[in-house]
Amino acid sequence: MASLEMQINDFMSKVIAKNPGESEFHQAVKEVAESLLEFIEANPKYKHAKILERIVEPERVIMFRVPWLTDDGEIQVNRGYRIEMNSSIGPYKGGLRFHPTVNLGILKFLAFEQVFKNSLTTLPMGGGKGGSDFDPKGKTDNEVMRFCQSFMTELSRHIGPDTDVPAGDIGVGGREIGYLFGQYKRIRNEFTGVLTGKAIEWGGSLIRPEATGYGAVYFAQEMLKTRNLDLKGKTCVVSGSGNVAQYAVEKLIHFGAKPVTLSDSSGYIYDKDGITTEKLAYVFELKNIRRGRIKEYADKYGVEYIEGKTPWNVKCDAAFPCATQNELNEEDAKVLIANGCIAVSEGANMPSTPEAVEVFIAKKILYGPGKAANAGGVSVSGLEMTQNSMRLPWSREEVDARLQEIMVNIHSTCEKYGKEKDGFINYVNGANIGGFIKIADAMIAQGLV
Ligand code: NDP
Repeated sequence: MASLEMQINDFMSKVIAKNPGESEFHQAVKEVAESLLEFIEANPKYKHAKILERIVEPERVIMFRVPWLTDDGEIQVNRGYRIEMNSSIGPYKGGLRFHPTVNLGILKFLAFEQVFKNSLTTLPMGGGKGGSDFDPKGKTDNEVMRFCQSFMTELSRHIGPDTDVPAGDIGVGGREIGYLFGQYKRIRNEFTGVLTGKAIEWGGSLIRPEATGYGAVYFAQEMLKTRNLDLKGKTCVVSGSGNVAQYAVEKLIHFGAKPVTLSDSSGYIYDKDGITTEKLAYVFELKNIRRGRIKEYADKYGVEYIEGKTPWNVKCDAAFPCATQNELNEEDAKVLIANGCIAVSEGANMPSTPEAVEVFIAKKILYGPGKAANAGGVSVSGLEMTQNSMRLPWSREEVDARLQEIMVNIHSTCEKYGKEKDGFINYVNGANIGGFIKIADAMIAQGLV
């Protein structure tokens, strides 16, 4: 029998040949294959059913033209996508990303990760992802609305509350979900739970905006508990300043931790005294209403602003990457650990490069990969779908309690499948194997689909 390494290389060379140029997709698949191959060897039913070969192939990929008009009447053309990756345990579920870097490979990596993440939540959701290379930055509300309407005119043919239920992601927040939902309703003449992340007055769930950031912090607490530690008094570095970062900071403050950084694609702020509730209220207004840059925080509060850099060289006990993929590299990982960082909980999807992950695991710190640590967002999306189906909203306390229970369960699953002989929990292996089993068994039960 070929060695595991040879098997991985062979498998990956086929994936790369079939999906050329999609480097982020290759990266996500390789990480999963490395975690799974040994497990699959030990469980031949998965090998015979060729689950790994099938699971990397999307069930369906939709690509479409999105024409729209600027306020000046100039025609613009963007590209829209929806990757329907796997529906073995429920309707496709996963966010929409509007960002100029969006391409097929990035969305396929996100859809692939989503399959495992959604399985880990224990809720009945398949995996998907979509979006466009449209950049909402600098656009007026009317331009964003016209883009969203054009995007949904095509997407509406492919989604539905029992088929595919998109949500937000980078560049898609409450405003965009509103325009997308309005257009879907107009075209289909249906008021259904076809999107999650809706406003509370028209079918949204309490705690959905908070869920990803809160969930990443709940997950960090669970990881720390395994070493009889907690977040109280811990200095925390957070990247990003969007939806996930904002609510990660809110929950860190709630737990008595001291978040000291926030960033955007231009640079980061370092607030030595800690970001307080009052300062965070300013960030909410700055980012969600005025749509300004994080540098303005430094100007307002007289703290350091470091242009063009990420915050990983700031001394901390715990780090929360909450911006984007591959934002934390090997060198950053080494610096974090040299500075005493003991836990990394990923709010973003695949923010650490494979080399950085290797450093975290070799040094046996508490490392929670995105597909486990940021699953709180899609979990509350799943709870939003349940409330929409029942046409009955739950209270804030009820949703938050369910979110906490789900994050604790995800942690236990990672522990169950990722605990090594010396007691170290490899959360990467735990999340990949724990997420895989349910999907693989469902695929086998449903025949050759
Ligand atoms: P937002 O659009 O609200 O915020 C994104 C933040 O990340 C902004 O501060 C943005 O800065 C920064 N950012 C984006 N792209 C880059 C880049 N290429 N380099 C540096 N900074 C960048 O998105 P979210 O907070 O919703 O998403 C953040 C991450 O969390 C993503 O990886 C997303 O996939 C993941 N995630 C989100 C979930 C959700 O529920 N929203 C659920 C699970 C995961 P700037 O404004 O300058 O672009």
